[in-house]
Amino acid sequence: MTPSNIDHYINGQIISGASGRQQDVYNPASGEVTGRVSLASSDEVSLAVAAAQAAFPAWSAMPPIRRARLMNNFLGLLNKNKDALARAITLEHGKVFTDAVGEVERGIDIVEFACGIPQLLKGDYTEQVSTGIDNWTLRQPLGVVAGITPFNFPVMVPMWMFPVAIAAGNTFVLKPSPTDPSASMMYADLMKQAGFPDGVFNVVHGDKVAVDALLVHPDVKAISFVGSTPIANYIYETGAHHGKRVQALGGAKNHMLVMPDADLEKTVDALMGAAYGSAGERCMAISVATLVGDVADKIVPMIAERLKSLKVKNGIELDAEMGPIVSAAAHARITDYIASGVEDGATLVTDGRGLTVPGHEKGFFMGGTLFDNVTSEMKIYKEEIFGPVLVCVRVANFAEGLDLINAHEFGNGVSLFTRDGNAAREFARRVQVGMVGVNVPIPVPMAWHGFGGWKKSLFGDMHAYGEEGVRFYTKQKSVMQRWPESIAKGAEFTMPVAR
Ligand code: NAD
Repeated sequence: MTPSNIDHYINGQIISGASGRQQDVYNPASGEVTGRVSLASSDEVSLAVAAAQAAFPAWSAMPPIRRARLMNNFLGLLNKNKDALARAITLEHGKVFTDAVGEVERGIDIVEFACGIPQLLKGDYTEQVSTGIDNWTLRQPLGVVAGITPFNFPVMVPMWMFPVAIAAGNTFVLKPSPTDPSASMMYADLMKQAGFPDGVFNVVHGDKVAVDALLVHPDVKAISFVGSTPIANYIYETGAHHGKRVQALGGAKNHMLVMPDADLEKTVDALMGAAYGSAGERCMAISVATLVGDVADKIVPMIAERLKSLKVKNGIELDAEMGPIVSAAAHARITDYIASGVEDGATLVTDGRGLTVPGHEKGFFMGGTLFDNVTSEMKIYKEEIFGPVLVCVRVANFAEGLDLINAHEFGNGVSLFTRDGNAAREFARRVQVGMVGVNVPIPVPMAWHGFGGWKKSLFGDMHAYGEEGVRFYTKQKSVMQRWPESIAKGAEFTMPVAR
């Protein structure tokens, strides 16, 4: 097949890349190049920012209820096009179609939340802060805001950002991952069909050149980033240096602590889905099983047995449980991590390397890998592998497990499996992690709660979406007012106090 060009979406138009730079886009199941995505120059980024800046005055002046109605149109179109979006995800990311539908649905949740923007923007009012004086606070949009997003959720993660930002009255420039860019062009078109004015939502594809152009552009007022920790750190520092508001969500190493009283069958179900679902390429994937007491002796053989029948196939096949790895480079990186675990002395219980899927010999496939007897000094414990590799660490008791988790540099998600209410309560209270599940393996918060990790999993103050998202994309203004009838005569030279 001839690879198709994937261009920018600026001011309501598809704009061919003028930089002359492109990147290949692959179908990871076949290993074929299916597209070529344009990589924007800083001039092309400026064009998108200028379009967003020009659209801002009218868009921000539109009453929130009218903005919400357009968002409601978008919601309807997303629901109609759910399967088409999911298919686009699977063809470029590789995750199984059913999982991709789930991703689209979690993105839709945020759009539903953003439809409630009139309520979310309601201010506070105090009558009579002093005699004849009232004071109120309101929240106003920032201007042009930008989102820079990772490959692993090409629909959901951008939708953590732009529906909330745009409903709040901002205009938006999205720089999605060049690895799986097609879905962003589909929802850009749906935004236009929904009736959003040109320039309110723009997409520029690109790499570091485009990101750097956004980071230094004086008209970009805020940056939302989701991706790996080193880049998150860079985005936070550079964006802040250029006077922008920044939220930068980074990588993860999510633990599941399994207590001896947990229901082991259900725990194994949870671990299989959370470790190997989406080939472990989720920021909320469980990549460390922290097994208390004799749990390891029971549970490790159960997982190994289940891995033998894990259905690793082209994700577009409806019975697939795990698809390919996103790219050849990621495949090589994960393979190297498995080798390093063996070198460091961990027990390789199941080796996912070398798997081929008949009919897809050039696809980037591997099976699920399971390590036991992993220790906290090993590279496979310390670093984010971002692949279908579960490492098991044995601990003596709850306290040792909790200390281990709290000592890790990442703090995105965590889970506890137990039947003990007090253990659950203590865990949720004391764990140094932003998102906690009790008998819930992947505790991704719902749209109105907000998403964010702690420690090196998030740089900035505000979580994504939810009320924190609304705060991130708006600034507070306080107005104090009185009318001439209540102004006392004569200049006052003292600090005004309530009278
Ligand atoms: P990545 O950091 O490589 O890329 C993220 C974005 O940054 C992309 O748009 C990319 O084009 C851009 N980028 C890459 N290198 C850059 C550079 N040197 N300078 C400027 N911009 C650059 O991440 P990825 O591989 O696409 O995604 C996987 C990572 O994202 C994992 O670490 C995962 O944990 C993380 N992630 C985190 C969350 C979260 O909510 N915390 C959610 C999803 C993914």
